[in-house]
Amino acid sequence: MRKNIADVLKNPGTALPLDFEADMSDIELYGERIFPDPVRVTGEVRNRAGLVTVEADVYAVGRASCARCLEPAEFVCDIPLDLTVTENAENAELEDYVYVEGDMLDLHGVVRDELILSCDMVILCQPDCRGLCSRCGKNLNAGDCDCVVQEVDPRLAGLAELLARQQERNDTDREV
Ligand SMILES: [Zn+2]
Ligand SMILES: [Zn+2]
Repeated sequence: MRKNIADVLKNPGTALPLDFEADMSDIELYGERIFPDPVRVTGEVRNRAGLVTVEADVYAVGRASCARCLEPAEFVCDIPLDLTVTENAENAELEDYVYVEGDMLDLHGVVRDELILSCDMVILCQPDCRGLCSRCGKNLNAGDCDCVVQEVDPRLAGLAELLARQQERNDTDREV
């Protein structure tokens, strides 16, 4: 994702199109390589009266296991980039700046960081994935299982347990 942008840097009022395919297959989430396919970056670098900017769009299809049912899930990352080009090394670490050394624009690091940030979410195979039965492990998207799951309000779980123990004791008393 490197391009010599010397002409744009020197000439206000000019622009250069950007079109890259990048290999981001080294990015891992929970041990899975989530961007096995090339990531596309398109846009332009433009010089407006000496202010040089990069406006681009990062497009990637991510693949991971669904957080609920563990089946393969696909998600799309479509991230706009709006960066100011700086040739001053002191600004290199500033947010929304991209440091250009020796006229070479290199977006690899920026795009990689943006993709990693965009993965900071729960990945599901479908928004309403029903997940796996906590008892038998069946994928509930394929239909209900035979387990009778009693939904107990966690705030009442303690009380329910107490009542059950009470009931047990009563039963034992009666047997005596
Ligand atoms: Zn799922
Ligand atoms: Zn079940």
